[in-house]
Amino acid sequence: MKQSTLTRLLRVWRKRIPMISPWKIRIRLERADKMDGTLGRCDMYVEMQMAQITILHPDDRNGKPEESNPEVDLIHELLHIVLDGHCPQQRYSVPHEVAINALSETLYREYHKNS
Ligand SMILES: [Zn+2]
Repeated sequence: MKQSTLTRLLRVWRKRIPMISPWKIRIRLERADKMDGTLGRCDMYVEMQMAQITILHPDDRNGKPEESNPEVDLIHELLHIVLDGHCPQQRYSVPHEVAINALSETLYREYHKNS
């Protein structure tokens, strides 16, 4: 996946999630050495409704099915804006991440069912 593909997917998924339409969102691919072992990251500036999403570069994914889909990670990070964008104090929690993973995988599957 190239940067341009990721940018296009951001546009597609933004339209599917109207709640985040006021947000200014930038997205970029990043190599593993800058990712602290994560597949994606979303840095939010809540008052300004701005977010920087960073997604692990496909060349640095180890090929495991659950780690091989940057689009699912993009959806995951957008859901962070939906769920945490009104709540700057939201802290990392495992149950929260598990729920967002389940939602992002479900959305991905449903939208790709007939394609
Ligand atoms: Zn997350």
